[in-house]
Amino acid sequence: MVMLRELYELQQLDLIRAEKQKTLDAVRAELADESDLRQARVRVANVQVQYTSQNALRRDAQLAVEQIEAREEVVQNRLYGGAVTNPRELEAFQEEQAMLSRQKSEAEDLLLERMVATEELQEVLTSSQETLAALEERRSQRVPDLRRQGRALSDELQELNRRRDEILPQFPSQILSTYETLLASRDGRAVSRVEASRGMDVCEACRVALPRSDTQRLRTGESLVQCNNCRRILYME
Ligand SMILES: [Zn+2]
Repeated sequence: MVMLRELYELQQLDLIRAEKQKTLDAVRAELADESDLRQARVRVANVQVQYTSQNALRRDAQLAVEQIEAREEVVQNRLYGGAVTNPRELEAFQEEQAMLSRQKSEAEDLLLERMVATEELQEVLTSSQETLAALEERRSQRVPDLRRQGRALSDELQELNRRRDEILPQFPSQILSTYETLLASRDGRAVSRVEASRGMDVCEACRVALPRSDTQRLRTGESLVQCNNCRRILYME
């Protein structure tokens, strides 16, 4: 007596177990995977550094313009305040005024350039912060769901394992060892049903037709019959 029906039931249970385990593995992998968040955080930090240094350059340029303007005011007071009357001194101040005017124009160009660059980085910073916030929000909603799913799957698996342990002792150890070996080497499917197809009996798993002698042996139910092609244990309903 080889208990084929019970073995087939064990196979069904093992298929469900494997499916649940696969889902649980995927849930755990998703829980552990924070690479999106990590990348977004690194991006925000990098842009923040760039923004800070660009903003410092902008402040330097602003300061340079202000210094030139302060000196211009002094020179203008000298030129037009009436305190200086010496023509050579006046000429020197006029030359300085012209030079300051050129310097101011250059300094203002630089300031404008740096203001634009700072503004652009500010926009990049804002958008990367928004991306990070959206990812964090999504993650904070997803994690409780995943934890719930993981707990439910663990419970179901525990129950399936308990049932498996309960039914295993009824099988002769020889059959069980054949079954376990095939389960591991045949993609989790050790038992295959015999199916009628175009007047022939075929192995459901590999679709190869079975010799009549095999199906006859199977009908007597006295020994284990394995598919000639895929070696799976055959079961006839
Ligand atoms: Zn087969």
